[in-house]
Amino acid sequence: MDATATFVSALRGRVVRSGDDGYETARKVYNAQIDRKPRLIVQCADVADVIHCVNYAREQGLAAAIRGGSHSAPGFGTCDDGMVIDLSRLKGIHVDPARRVARVEGGGTWGDVDHATHVFGLATPGGLISTTGVGGLTTGGGFGHLTRRYGLVCDNLLSADVVTADGTIRRASGNENPDLFWAIRGGGGNFGIVTSFEFRLHPVHTVYAGPILYPVGKAAEVMRLFRDYMPTAPRELSAFFAILIVPPVLPFPAHLHMTTVCGIVVAYCGDPAGGDDVTKPLREFGPPLFSLTGPMPYPMLQSMFDGLLPHGLHHYWKADFMAGLNDDAIAQHVKFGPGIPTVNSAMHIYPLDGAVHDTSKDATAFSYRDVRYTHIIAAVSPDPAPMPEYRDWVRDYWKALHPLSAGGAYVNFLMEEGEERVESSYTGNFGRLAAIKAKYDPGNLFRVNQNIKPAA
Ligand SMILES: Cc1cc2nc3c(=O)[nH]c(=O)nc-3n(C[C@H](O)[C@H](O)[C@H](O)COP(=O)(O)OP(=O)(O)OC[C@H]3O[C@@H](n4cnc5c(N)ncnc54)[C@H](O)[C@@H]3O)c2cc1C
Repeated sequence: MDATATFVSALRGRVVRSGDDGYETARKVYNAQIDRKPRLIVQCADVADVIHCVNYAREQGLAAAIRGGSHSAPGFGTCDDGMVIDLSRLKGIHVDPARRVARVEGGGTWGDVDHATHVFGLATPGGLISTTGVGGLTTGGGFGHLTRRYGLVCDNLLSADVVTADGTIRRASGNENPDLFWAIRGGGGNFGIVTSFEFRLHPVHTVYAGPILYPVGKAAEVMRLFRDYMPTAPRELSAFFAILIVPPVLPFPAHLHMTTVCGIVVAYCGDPAGGDDVTKPLREFGPPLFSLTGPMPYPMLQSMFDGLLPHGLHHYWKADFMAGLNDDAIAQHVKFGPGIPTVNSAMHIYPLDGAVHDTSKDATAFSYRDVRYTHIIAAVSPDPAPMPEYRDWVRDYWKALHPLSAGGAYVNFLMEEGEERVESSYTGNFGRLAAIKAKYDPGNLFRVNQNIKPAA
């Protein structure tokens, strides 16, 4: 048998190659702008399959694209002419409610995690859309509604099993391979394939949450309110500012459908009975055009916006970290924000304060712990035809704000923007990341990502 036949016969999962039934579907990722043709896609059935894939890709000199939830906007869950190592069948989750710990396989989504932990009245910070993969989001750092209270997603990682480029599976934790553990908490998929994540859980069951919408003409005042109130608010309250087009669905009233508005989406993980009081300053400024806040199960909050962002839309994003939200930045948001092109598009300003600031800048690869916000400007469209025009909106908006930014951006919000942008996203931690890359992946097998080249 030749090497390929030997490799395929060793697998329990499915291999899909060009010309095979299902290849066209299997090569697609979440962002429909991405059109790449991998040589083979391996839908792994277990950890042994992942190890076989890593060994085969390395021996054959193939680029290896890791696919978890496939949400990477630049399309790092696929590649041209290389191998896709698709983890999406690896979804097992084990919750230990007594220890308040969950072990999550490398292909799980946040919806899978929230479903498994909610029944025990427990949760860990995860992303805002339930279909996003645990793998990409956690290894890039990760934030969500629980982050002000409980930290970044990677701050809640207790250990991970990682298949490194030599095909070895290593436990990474505070006391086993601590350099690898440091690097995978922000450094993305550069260091290996995480087949299992162990997360700390917190007592979160029913949260108080929902949107509060204002006329877009009040965007400057609402942003100032958001800026001034949030630092005084308890950490249990998370809130992000948005300029959006109101979706033409219930519960939004018909007269607001497809109207451009601004708003604040709140999520309070303290006692839901206190939610009205803690969000009162945000609700009483106004009056709002529409407000629908109240208690709900945490997984309901986590999937509230899923309908707006199904698989297969066209995405183009740009982002930056911001030390603050000064009046110059607000003026740029007021100028460009109302140009938001579609109901699926987003201009969001997320908080990165509270518990994020409790960890030092060099304690994990994720280093921007002294900023207050990350914003994202995302053009998202079902139709590819207007994307060039929408991309210009994103670029012009971003260009106006970038000089006011902290310099780098959240790696999981970058498109393919070049090495300098990647380096600037890690500030003082980049050199250490390159050295750890040289130790665990000297041949840069894992290069389909925001790539950190091995140090010479
Ligand atoms: C609709 C939407 C909402 C989002 N919301 C949030 C949010 O609330 N908070 C937030 O922080 N980010 C958010 N993001 C950004 C998100 O973190 C990134 O898109 C991330 O890459 C998604 O991970 P994935 O596993 O789905 O991606 P994939 O495309 O499957 O993977 C992208 C890359 O991540 C790495 N990777 C994936 N799985 C593993 C693994 N098991 N081991 C090692 N490396 C791996 C690999 O380098 C891979 O190429 C959102 C993205 C989208 C599209």
